[in-house]
Amino acid sequence: MVRLREVELVKGRKRKRTLLRGVAASPGEAMGPIYLLVSQEFHVPRRRVPPQAVASEIRRFRGALRLAREEIGAVRARLGTNPEDPADQILASHLMIFQDRELMREIAAAIKVERMNAAHAVRRVLVAKAHYLESLPSEVFRTRAADIRDVERRLLGQLLGAESFVGTEIPEGAIVAATEILPSDMATLDPERVAAFVIERGTLASHVTIMARSRGVPAVVGIADIQEVLPENEIAIVDGERGFVIVAPSRQDIEVHRASQERADRMRARLHERRESPGETRDGKRIPVRANIERPGDAAIARAGGAEGVGLFRTEFLFMGASGFAREVFQQEVYRQVVETFPDDPVTLRTLDLGGDKTASLMGLPREDNPFLGLRGIRFCLEHPEILLVQIRAILQASVGGRAQILLPMISTVSELRRARELVRRAAAELAAAGQAIRAEVPVGVMIEVPSAALMSDALARDADFFSIGSNDLTQYILAADRGNEQVASLYNWLDPAVLRAIHHTVRGAEAGGIPVASCGEMSSETLGMLLLVGLGVDELSVAPGQVRRVRALLGGVRASELAKLAQRCLAADDIGEVLRVIREQLAPDPQFEFEERDGRWLCHWCLAETE
Ligand code: PEP
Ligand code: MG
Repeated sequence: MVRLREVELVKGRKRKRTLLRGVAASPGEAMGPIYLLVSQEFHVPRRRVPPQAVASEIRRFRGALRLAREEIGAVRARLGTNPEDPADQILASHLMIFQDRELMREIAAAIKVERMNAAHAVRRVLVAKAHYLESLPSEVFRTRAADIRDVERRLLGQLLGAESFVGTEIPEGAIVAATEILPSDMATLDPERVAAFVIERGTLASHVTIMARSRGVPAVVGIADIQEVLPENEIAIVDGERGFVIVAPSRQDIEVHRASQERADRMRARLHERRESPGETRDGKRIPVRANIERPGDAAIARAGGAEGVGLFRTEFLFMGASGFAREVFQQEVYRQVVETFPDDPVTLRTLDLGGDKTASLMGLPREDNPFLGLRGIRFCLEHPEILLVQIRAILQASVGGRAQILLPMISTVSELRRARELVRRAAAELAAAGQAIRAEVPVGVMIEVPSAALMSDALARDADFFSIGSNDLTQYILAADRGNEQVASLYNWLDPAVLRAIHHTVRGAEAGGIPVASCGEMSSETLGMLLLVGLGVDELSVAPGQVRRVRALLGGVRASELAKLAQRCLAADDIGEVLRVIREQLAPDPQFEFEERDGRWLCHWCLAETE
């Protein structure tokens, strides 16, 4: 959230041009007038309910619950209840929160036992739940916190008789700015009217940014004091690729913006022409492009987007219910649905990757000071084999419908891999003994996201069936730079030669063991990151469903042999600056890549120009 201010003279008039830097959340550029979206804040006083009124207060709560559910049903109906639309999925997940008996019982208990008025009980229980989820290290949980706050607001809207949702009278082509946009506000916004979003509270994984990406609306998040720095009706340019917002742009900014709009239009048209390009480089190296998914409903979207299977199914959502882990039958159903969506392609199911804090409070263990270095991922699961066994059994049973494979997160030693494999054997034996059908061989892979795993990749490759590089974590652990901390954001870069060397070492280890290496972190879809992964010898890429076609088209325009030379030169670089210089030197003569220097940073546009 660095803010640079400069003053410019335009047409003799003194005008303040402000450049704000946030986090690039959804690509694309847009210009338009700022529209400030202000959500209603509810004032919820605490009242003590007299004993004779407790029953009617509980009835009032249950009535509000019913009306809130009906309200969601009405919004879904208005949107057309399309299960492939992320907005509909979010609303459906809110309905599930209302159906979370344990959570709703907790609210009713607060009314009954503590004699709290219904609105206060709703606020207390749901805010506490949201705060708790926000304190966890995983972005998935923080995203869930926004859902809980959304549900809270909807219930309060019913209980307090107020309009709980912002209107939709957004002027055509507006830059919508808000401190926070709750998922259901987002669902009711008309994307055709919104040119871009600028949001103070939001991360790359929050619903709002996922929906902005899926609707192709540019977005920047993490800009502080939105209401102060973005004056209503002022013109702004939002650059969702680099995370910039220019308020009151200069004439030169406007010209640059127009040029990039034209480039984007050209790019869209070319991408459409190449939408069926196979995942193959110009010199014939086949690189399947698979999808990263987080919910079972994403599988159909990924398939429609051209994905060849699932390279990463983050299964943490199964842990979201108030009552803890999802039961085996439910898990099995979810996995089966995804596996059967891709009967001929691999579906990679990652076992639970929970962070320390969540597990600590759940299991009554002490809080961890450093949850990212604590009982996370496979470490937690090996401490609680009963949980991992349930998940593995469910995966093995779902495997009959297709090509499921198991992926283990946060592996840092060979012995962890062996212990996990032993549990897979045990689960298979239990199922066989019970007469259950399972696929004979379900591959077991290791996520390479911890430095020790990269260093020991040759040893791990002897016991693993495949690797998948998790560049999001690998970058943070190699550089000791928290992936979510803006203060060290300039250090966190997967193009750093240290990260590239870790990947190189991993690929060599895999080659020695004769196993394939995939990559499923964000690096796999970022233009330069993806080129270097191919150059370093990665065999498969897994990216967000909406990125599959772009990545496949990009592959079709480059030669693996040239990227291998580029990667070798980058491996020899001293630092990130040198890596970037080398890339620029090698790629600049290729008309597909346009390099541009703006505001002290340079940018590589991949513009899909023909190379021959
Ligand atoms: C990664 O670390 O790169 C990864 C894909 O896993 P996650 O982002 O879920 O930690
Ligand atoms: Mg990870």
